[in-house]
Amino acid sequence: MTKHNLDKKILRCQVAASTRIMNAEGLIDYSGHISARLPENYGFLIQSFDDSRATVSPEELLICDFDANVIEGPPNKAPPREIFIHTEIYKKRSDVWAIGHFHPETATMFTLVEDRPLIPVKNHAARWSEGIPTHLDPGHVNSVEKGEALAETLGRCHAALIRAHGVVVTAETVPGLLVDSIHFEENAQTLFRAASLGEVKGLSSAEMAGFKNRFNRDAHIRKLWKYYCSRGEETGYLAQEWELKLLEEN
Ligand SMILES: [Zn+2]
Repeated sequence: MTKHNLDKKILRCQVAASTRIMNAEGLIDYSGHISARLPENYGFLIQSFDDSRATVSPEELLICDFDANVIEGPPNKAPPREIFIHTEIYKKRSDVWAIGHFHPETATMFTLVEDRPLIPVKNHAARWSEGIPTHLDPGHVNSVEKGEALAETLGRCHAALIRAHGVVVTAETVPGLLVDSIHFEENAQTLFRAASLGEVKGLSSAEMAGFKNRFNRDAHIRKLWKYYCSRGEETGYLAQEWELKLLEEN
């Protein structure tokens, strides 16, 4: 099994666990959603519009196609209204296998001020060395056209801000998405604090390239995934029986 042909059961557990972890970490609250592309492009997993992010379970997740139709799931469950973030990015980006959309306070603040862009300042933010574009339409991404426009803004980058609204983060796996989402808001919080001390020196292109050269992304994702899953199991918000162990190559 490779990271892109995990069976549905494992992916369901990963999406539900990541949602609960992000809720516990204050990244997702009553809204926000995570999706995972299924093998052979059989649509993607996403939670329903109104199931609680604190208690979402693997079996409650919907499978939707890339036209935003529900193709599997409990009856009478609708996907989030902003499902078009997911459909349009998946259609445009074959390298993206997991997407998160949420509304973190600090990262979003950087869309509200002039002359203070969200830039990489912490080493793990080298992930966004290609840039963090800002989508200027603050409205809900609730149509194909709005999803296409957001996917256009994202381009080949791994994350984008949506002005006065939130963020979209993309990754190659669900565990990778969780780790990136945590680092994304961490970087914003550090930049916010550093700016109160004085002029901020963001990471240079050379510093980010050097960091990435020496960085084992898969090992880092495995380490943080293990940490957050074990914390969730100990605290009780993740079920012990969920399949959350990552294979070496994942
Ligand atoms: Zn939103």
